[in-house]
Amino acid sequence: MGRFKEQEIQKTEPHQPVCLHHLAAQNLGVFCWCNRCSHNADLPVDTLIERLGPLFPVPELGIYLRCSNCGAHDVAARPAWPHYGGQIARHG
Ligand SMILES: [Zn+2]
Repeated sequence: MGRFKEQEIQKTEPHQPVCLHHLAAQNLGVFCWCNRCSHNADLPVDTLIERLGPLFPVPELGIYLRCSNCGAHDVAARPAWPHYGGQIARHG
């Protein structure tokens, strides 16, 4: 079922991941979350663009990140959206 839905979504919506330059244009950083110890941090997007280029997709940043707290490579990255005074998404 999940797989079918995925295919449907890919058909209707072109897959365009958020890239570093999108965040730079909106003055956003990158929010990183360690799936192992829940350590999290905001990374400045300028540094990442210097290292990886402006077209690097944000969800793939996790591959290159390492948790500074526990050393795990199991790190998720997403745009550091401003907080709207509450929880906008649940983790897990
Ligand atoms: Zn960690």
